[in-house]
Amino acid sequence: MSEAFDLIVLGAGSAGIAMAIRAASHGARVCVVEAGPLGGTCVNVGCVPKKAMWLAAELAEAQALARLLGFDSAPGRLDWPAFIARRSAYIANIHAGYRARFEQLGITLVQGHGRFRAARRIGVGTRTLEARHVLIATGAHSRRMAIPGGDLGIDSDGFFDLRACPRRVAIVGAGYIAVELGGVLRALGAEVSLFARSDRVLRYFDHELGAALTRAMVDRGIQVACSRLPVRAQRTADGYALHFQDGSCTGGFDELIWAIGRDPNVQDLGLDVAGVALDAQGFVAIDDWQDTDVAGVHAAGDVTDRLPLTPVAIAASRRLADRLFGGQAEARLDYANIPSVVFSHPPVGAVGLTEEAARAAHGEVVRVYRARFRPMLTALAGHDERTFMKLVCVGAEERVVGIHLMGIGADEILQGFAVAVKMGARKADLDATVAIHPTSAEELVLMR
Ligand code: FAD
Repeated sequence: MSEAFDLIVLGAGSAGIAMAIRAASHGARVCVVEAGPLGGTCVNVGCVPKKAMWLAAELAEAQALARLLGFDSAPGRLDWPAFIARRSAYIANIHAGYRARFEQLGITLVQGHGRFRAARRIGVGTRTLEARHVLIATGAHSRRMAIPGGDLGIDSDGFFDLRACPRRVAIVGAGYIAVELGGVLRALGAEVSLFARSDRVLRYFDHELGAALTRAMVDRGIQVACSRLPVRAQRTADGYALHFQDGSCTGGFDELIWAIGRDPNVQDLGLDVAGVALDAQGFVAIDDWQDTDVAGVHAAGDVTDRLPLTPVAIAASRRLADRLFGGQAEARLDYANIPSVVFSHPPVGAVGLTEEAARAAHGEVVRVYRARFRPMLTALAGHDERTFMKLVCVGAEERVVGIHLMGIGADEILQGFAVAVKMGARKADLDATVAIHPTSAEELVLMR
């Protein structure tokens, strides 16, 4: 006998939980199928524990700065297990919050691996669930390199299992996860070497931003080796070793972290049984409305080829729930101008077009404004690190189509400016805004 619902959600991560709660709030009978802990990647092995580690790392850096400013205490070492106990308690609270919300809204939670048995019929063990709508929200997992020894070491999930700071770490990758983990480990005392296939870190960001962050990481003592492609990893008596395409080899690492990208969780879902197609990159193929080719089957979050960020997964799912169950026929996510922050040291934030993308799209009518300056705290401490800010403007009216930031506070500054970009602000609108002094953010309204 099958159990009937209005909506079955496969995966209780950012996308799945947002969809379930919004649909249930509209009165839908909802069933959520989850194989692991509630909250998925973001809560358990992503944004939340990562930000906790970043906050700890920020405090470590602040102590070193405090010393330079005249405080007499030497920077302390983090009691890693004690901090992780706090981190876990914080996450346990989130789990409890979700459970309470599910109960309050009458959402059925089925723990187990869900698999399509037909287009809108899901099997979980011996149970069969049916619904008018199914949301595929199964997320993604870390990729490994298909090279000898590619299965050695850990990925970002393994990073969150660490119970002590490794002494010497090799990180393979140059995307946001690689630079974030590298920055945290360096600030907490590790010797970090980062091996990038590209010529700089964060190559999907504006080129000047990637270059500025590479410099800042090197200044903090991270060895950034660009254009290095590993062909073999090895575990030797001396620790992990990496062999590269050019014949060179570097070893002696007591931890090896792979951060080379993430692949969608589409295996063992029975997508073929349901008739759900994948796109050329292997993501679940969707249109602008989060719909697959199969009527009543939808997808959102990292299992689709959209920006792999928690707020994106949440926003897309909520709008889908509003459309399917809330009577809002036109509801869908506009994926343009989505801001994002990299919790590197210092942090990076960006919204809109890179300079390269703007020039490709608009040619000669692109005008770029830049600011490089020492923020007050850094200058007081006698450090030379510069904050970097860049505005990309287009046309005679100088519409701001891109903002790119690197420096202390970039993570918190960007959100408000992202509203301005989304609203179509012009450079003149920034000029007309009175500065808040003395801050770093004021430079964004003072550029000439
Ligand atoms: P997930 O959160 O991965 O959820 C998918 C869920 O589906 C999982 O719980 C999984 O167990 C379950 N599942 C899979 N298959 C099945 C099945 N067959 N049956 C039942 N359940 C199944 N984003 C940000 O916005 N900010 C950040 O700072 C940030 N930091 C990150 C740091 C790291 C290290 C990582 C890895 C990611 C980070 N992200 C961040 C990205 C963010 O975590 C993801 O974009 C977000 O979690 C995607 O949500 P999702 O619902 O698509 O997938």
